[in-house]
Amino acid sequence: MFLAQDKFGRPLRDLRISVTDRCNFRCPFCMPAKTNGEEYHFLPRAEILTFEEIVRLTRILVDLGVSKIRITGGEPLLRSQIEVLVGYLANIKGIEDLALTTNGYLLAQKARALKDAGLGRVTVSLHSLDDDVFANMNGRGYSTESVLEGLRVAAEVGLSPIKINIVVQRGVNGHTIVDLARFFRRLGHVARFIEYMDVGNLNGWNQDQVVSADEIVKTISAELPLEPIERTHNSDVALRFKYKDGGGEIGIIASVTKPFCGDCARLRLSAEGKLYTCLFASEGHDIKGVLRAGATDNEIKEILTGLWSSRTDRYSEERAALMANETMPRKVEMYQLGG
Ligand code: SF4
Repeated sequence: MFLAQDKFGRPLRDLRISVTDRCNFRCPFCMPAKTNGEEYHFLPRAEILTFEEIVRLTRILVDLGVSKIRITGGEPLLRSQIEVLVGYLANIKGIEDLALTTNGYLLAQKARALKDAGLGRVTVSLHSLDDDVFANMNGRGYSTESVLEGLRVAAEVGLSPIKINIVVQRGVNGHTIVDLARFFRRLGHVARFIEYMDVGNLNGWNQDQVVSADEIVKTISAELPLEPIERTHNSDVALRFKYKDGGGEIGIIASVTKPFCGDCARLRLSAEGKLYTCLFASEGHDIKGVLRAGATDNEIKEILTGLWSSRTDRYSEERAALMANETMPRKVEMYQLGG
């Protein structure tokens, strides 16, 4: 196996596969309803990769060092027969970790089939337990009920450990993080607080709305004392903290105040078959055309190796300078490259 490394010596280890750009939510920080309303046209079926194409690409990428797969979207549970794709991926030798990120709304119906197909674990986005705050943050007015039921069934069928993604925005849900910490500590799930990021171009991001990792730790620790612990892998995105009383742990994804580009080992594959070497990329690299033009595995492997070995992305480390010089680039939307 040839292990691809980029210009900074970062290995290719994590692959995030977006299986659809569609979503049943309209979270303002990702896919605002005002820009992606009812008339918005998502990718037509013929434009998205088939399961066979996704599996073939994944096999080749595993040969190049990928061992961790995360299925994303849009909302991946909207892709019909997603459990069939999970089954194919679970059978690829060399994958050590097969996970899926979902908004949880359809999880109660799908959890059993996903588990039986070979999915290891899920990450569920739930940004507040306060129904009014959550209704505002999902852009559809939905309550937390379906998501909490999805979590209950996921735990019941053994899709664990369960992690909870919580985007923290000052003045939106910043005042509810201790409730979230207390609630998920009780359930034994790992709450991961995410600093609000300038993903894409639609969310009107403003640094003042960022609640920093240090502030999140201070706020929670005031009630539930925390202490830092080592990351499991260098390339893991979250800073880890455990409760001093042994009540479990939390994670914090601090892309704004404590960027972690130095160990970033993530490649993203979009539903329409483009490869992105950074969450804040301005453009992708088409691989679907190469696949559908009949390229051999070796030809595809050469393209992938070339793409990764020429990679120099480290946007989060450059953000402050880009802001200071007012040279912020236009970026691909998060729901198009899978977060
Ligand atoms: S900003 Fe880009 S390079 Fe940095 S950690 Fe995020 S995805 Fe990786």
